[in-house]
Amino acid sequence: MADKTRKTPGNVPGRYYVDEECILCGDCENRAPENFAMGETYAYVKKQPATPDEEEKCQEAMDSCPVTCIGNDGE
Ligand code: SF4
Repeated sequence: MADKTRKTPGNVPGRYYVDEECILCGDCENRAPENFAMGETYAYVKKQPATPDEEEKCQEAMDSCPVTCIGNDGE
């Protein structure tokens, strides 16, 4: 389960975030390219979902992350 006290650099404020367990596999960016991006060491949320379609893709990215380091309980 993701830990909002360990957010990676670059996460914009809001519910979705990536934490430092990220292994930079790229899956979240493939699933939700409008919302996730790859940094040098970790992925991060570049934009919070603004439409039902983006919300669905972010949820899918969270559910699919191989190390469960995406959370949606941020602020
Ligand atoms: S799917 Fe998870 S491990 Fe892979 S890049 Fe995204 S946040 Fe990191």
